Amino acid sequence: MLKIYNTLFRKIEEFKPLNPPKVGMYICGPTVYDYAHLGHARTYTNSDVLVRTLRWFGYQVKVVMNITDVGHLTSQADTGEDKVEKKARLENKTAQEIAKYYTDDFWQMCVGLNILKPDIITPATQHIPTMINLIKTLEQKGFVYKTDDGIYFDTSKLADYGRLGRIDIKGLQVGWRVEKRQKKHPTDFALWKFSPSPSADGSGQAQRQMEWESPWGIGFPGWHIECSAMSMKYLGETLDIHTGGVDHIPVHHTNEIAQSEAATGKQFVRYWFHSNFLDIDGAKMSKSLGNFYRVKDLIDKGYEPLALRYLFLTGHYRTKMNFTWKALDGAQEAYKKLKALISEWVDEPKVNFDNKFNNQFKTAIENDLNLPQALAVVWEMVKSPIASGNKLALIQEWDKVLGLNLGQKGIRAKGQKMSEEIKKLINLREKLRQEKKWQEADELRKQNEAQGHQVKDEKIKA
Ligand code: AMP
Ligand code: ZN
Repeated sequence: MLKIYNTLFRKIEEFKPLNPPKVGMYICGPTVYDYAHLGHARTYTNSDVLVRTLRWFGYQVKVVMNITDVGHLTSQADTGEDKVEKKARLENKTAQEIAKYYTDDFWQMCVGLNILKPDIITPATQHIPTMINLIKTLEQKGFVYKTDDGIYFDTSKLADYGRLGRIDIKGLQVGWRVEKRQKKHPTDFALWKFSPSPSADGSGQAQRQMEWESPWGIGFPGWHIECSAMSMKYLGETLDIHTGGVDHIPVHHTNEIAQSEAATGKQFVRYWFHSNFLDIDGAKMSKSLGNFYRVKDLIDKGYEPLALRYLFLTGHYRTKMNFTWKALDGAQEAYKKLKALISEWVDEPKVNFDNKFNNQFKTAIENDLNLPQALAVVWEMVKSPIASGNKLALIQEWDKVLGLNLGQKGIRAKGQKMSEEIKKLINLREKLRQEKKWQEADELRKQNEAQGHQVKDEKIKA
């Protein structure tokens, strides 16, 4: 029985989807205005482990992830510049160029970390009419009001606004004064923002590149509305599970619930899954502190991206994690040792699947994804005296959850070491790919595969 912690009730619950074996899952995706960093790597690795776990438990999971390419402002208070537009202005590029560049960077990070691609990927800019329709519904139901700079959601109209984040609404109101732009309550938030008028409107904002017609005027959507509109479009009005980082609890996810439930009158999400943060050397990651690292920086320093994935699995997803180079060294050593041991195991035609270890592994996973415990079971099994064929069968099974590329057929070539000839072919092919000689590289891939070596590529930037 799979149990996970539900932020909504602050407790571990048995996971029961609405229409088993189907599961609808929404992952809050990245805002594509900068490189994906190690904190993103952790959060998306954790949601990937969740997807893999649900599938391992036999659920048919439909995964939807958004790409925020419009509407996320530099301030949580619905003021400031659009992050993507700001970057475009600074780099003298179009907003689309910025979004594409950083979206590609994000997927490249995911490939390195073995994070499965979602079934449906939804860029916000491609769903503006869906968002406008949702705002229209909210307007018809009396949940919105207009100010100088946009259409706002009136949070005082919802009796249980803020229950996800346990927000102290009265406390927030103390000392809060009606803002210049006439927001009625501190927790109200923008659904639609008007484009600044070309003649200076006093906001100091540059003219926008991305804007759309709407019943309320030319403008762009607020950040939160995209996730409500797109998740419900692809997964229905009630999602089984919704994920994101813990920073999203008090504002973004709280507002997603408000908009969705006000529009449908139904529960929006059954289980809220939140991943805790990654700090670097005990500090918050930031460019100004010089501790903003990408997965690519690790690769350049000679680390395997899957060693980072291994490191993430050594911490529970709800616990804050502190990244240090020493910890990464330790993870890389452990990961390499594990792979070296596995490469010695021999595939056997008949294996006696060891249920004792498998049950221990399953127990760890089903207890709110206790990956540190699951890794302990892995090592116990690896060091145990059971036959290597059994070990291989177990590790191949468990890797469906771990995603560490352990014991894969083809790569291990059934207990044989890779021949020198094959190694040469693989290296030559990698060189051709780097030189963008795709056709020749593909011919070599076929040769490799004909010899029983599956070749899996990582994307190369154009
Ligand atoms: P953003 O691109 O800022 O919208 O963030 C995308 C996702 O990454 C969100 O779910 C954030 O909560 C998560 N995230 C951002 N910074 C960190 C961090 N330092 N550690 C863990 N997760 C993070
Ligand atoms: Zn979101």
